[in-house]
Amino acid sequence: MKAWSDLLALVYPEFCYACSETLAHGEKMVCTTCRVKLPYTNYHLLPSSDNPLSNRFYGRIEIENALSYLTFVRAGRVQNLLHNLKYRNVPEIGELLGKWYGSELQKSGYQERFDLILPVPLYHRKLKKRGYNQSDRFAKGLSETLEIPWSDKVIKRNIESTTQTKKSRFARWKNVDKVFSVSKPEEIQQKRILLVDDVLTTGATLEACGQELLQNGCKSLSVATIAAA
Ligand SMILES: [Zn+2]
Repeated sequence: MKAWSDLLALVYPEFCYACSETLAHGEKMVCTTCRVKLPYTNYHLLPSSDNPLSNRFYGRIEIENALSYLTFVRAGRVQNLLHNLKYRNVPEIGELLGKWYGSELQKSGYQERFDLILPVPLYHRKLKKRGYNQSDRFAKGLSETLEIPWSDKVIKRNIESTTQTKKSRFARWKNVDKVFSVSKPEEIQQKRILLVDDVLTTGATLEACGQELLQNGCKSLSVATIAAA
C-alpha cells in the first residue's frame, strides 16, 4: 500500500497550502519550512497586561484571555492558508491549525481555563453556499487537543453583516450589533467560554458576539482566532 501511495504522490503531487511548494513524504497540508516560519503570536505566553490583543479589547468588553495563533500577514503564508480554508474548499486546514494551536495552549495549561468552545457562526445562507463554517473547523481542532467540548448550536447569526472594509470603526460596530443571538442560553450558564473566529481585524465581530454571551449568563469570556491583523 505504501508503494501505491508513493506512486500516487508522484503522479498527483500534493502542495503546501501556505507556500505552494511540493510536499515531501510524510508532510501533510503544510510543509515543514512553513510550519517553522509561520508568524506565531505567542500571546498565550504573555501576562494579560502585556498582551497587545487584550489591550485592544480594553474598555470595550471584558475578555479573560485574548489569543491568536498567528499574526495576519498579507500576501504571505497566513493569507494563503486562510484563502484556501475559506474559499478553496479545504476545511481540513482549520482543523489542522486548531489541533496545532490546541497542543501549544495545552503546554501552557489552558485546558483548565475554559469549559466550552463556541465558534462565531456564519449566516445560514453563507454556510449553505460554502458548505462549512471555517471557524467550526478551527473550534473542532482546538476541542480535540484541549479535550474541551465545542458546539455550533448555541449562537445564531441573524443577519449577514454587509462588507465592512470601507466603514469607520464606529459604523462597523453598529453594523454587527444584534447580528448575533444566543439560541441556547442554558448551555452557557456559569461556563467559561472560549469564542473562536478565523480572523480578527477590528474585533467588532467578536465583541458583538461576546456581548450576547455575557448578557446571557456565561461566567467569563475568552477569544481565540487563527490570525489577528
Ligand atoms: Zn510551505
